[in-house]
Amino acid sequence: MEKQFICICCPRGCHLTYKDGVVTGNTCPRGAVYGVQEATNPTRIVTSTFKVNDKVIHVLPCKTSGPIPKGKIFEVMQEIDKVNIPLPVEEHQVIIANVLNLGVDIIATKGSK
Ligand code: SF4
Repeated sequence: MEKQFICICCPRGCHLTYKDGVVTGNTCPRGAVYGVQEATNPTRIVTSTFKVNDKVIHVLPCKTSGPIPKGKIFEVMQEIDKVNIPLPVEEHQVIIANVLNLGVDIIATKGSK
């Protein structure tokens, strides 16, 4: 089956085609690696916000510490939505360790100070 993607590894945004294990349309080897991964096991870094228990600050930004399977994004977002922690929160603080046993953490990308 043929699949088409836009490579997101750099701003050039090459139009990739994946067919029978072969990627075409890439200008560099990174695009070939990305095309195979996107066709066989797409992953994403997830960015979001989590709730904090404070009268002034209500949410802080967070992200996954690494890529997760694209099919798990909704479940991870549900886990993040359950969070409601008191301040202070430090930048890079682990908010959820090993979320859904995916081997990545949810980390704060901004502290409360
Ligand atoms: S294939 Fe290479 S040049 Fe093209 S968008 Fe991807 S990383 Fe950039």
